[in-house]
Amino acid sequence: CGIVGYIGRQDAAPVVLEGLTRLEHRGYDSAGVAVLGGRGLRVAKQAGRVRELTDVLPKRFAGTTAIGHTRWATHGPATDANAHPHVDETGRVAVVHNGIIDNSAALRAQLTDAGVTLASDTDTEVVAHLVARSEADTLEGKVRDALRVVVGTYGLAVLHADFPDRIVVARNGSPLVVGVGDKEMYVASDLAALVRHTTTVAMLDDGEMATVTASGFSTMRHTDLSSTGKTATQVDID
Ligand code: GLU
Repeated sequence: CGIVGYIGRQDAAPVVLEGLTRLEHRGYDSAGVAVLGGRGLRVAKQAGRVRELTDVLPKRFAGTTAIGHTRWATHGPATDANAHPHVDETGRVAVVHNGIIDNSAALRAQLTDAGVTLASDTDTEVVAHLVARSEADTLEGKVRDALRVVVGTYGLAVLHADFPDRIVVARNGSPLVVGVGDKEMYVASDLAALVRHTTTVAMLDDGEMATVTASGFSTMRHTDLSSTGKTATQVDID
């Protein structure tokens, strides 16, 4: 339902959680955040309100990169396990997702046959395992490989502990915006989560992916990672 991400110089979890509260009016049943910092990748998620998650978040959930999500369940009930972010078995990849993966049942079966233990009932979780299992040597390549076999709609944000300098996002049928700050960058499913921080933004198109680092972003096609060269523009908000 709602996606917010931050990479920069501030403590990222509070920024992401505050952004998620700006999307609360859309309705949701669960909330979660993944933080990448000195202690690696850590995830906190549960059914319920963003406020309740904020209250239980470990005090030292420090890190300057984070992605967060508010979930409107489509596949699996509103439980802690089904809340996003979803992680792979090694806990190195975290994924938040808006939309519906149409072939998730087949992908779940293939992953199970390959020996993967699934931790949730969601359609989303397969993406974390697919990214983790790709043999591409860049995070963009791993996400491309995952999206090659995924059919459905998505706004996605992906963190990987082996590529701590970036958030990779992808869009197909579910909105994603990149926001430009001063040595800090944002991603969100809705401008409303960003306007407090920046009005310099780039909207992704369907079939587009972006690498977002603390100092900037670059856009490319899912299919072959060829550049789409998108630049940010100023939006007017009243
Ligand atoms: N289909 C996903 C799920 O059920 C994402 C739902 C959403 O857009 O919040 O977890």
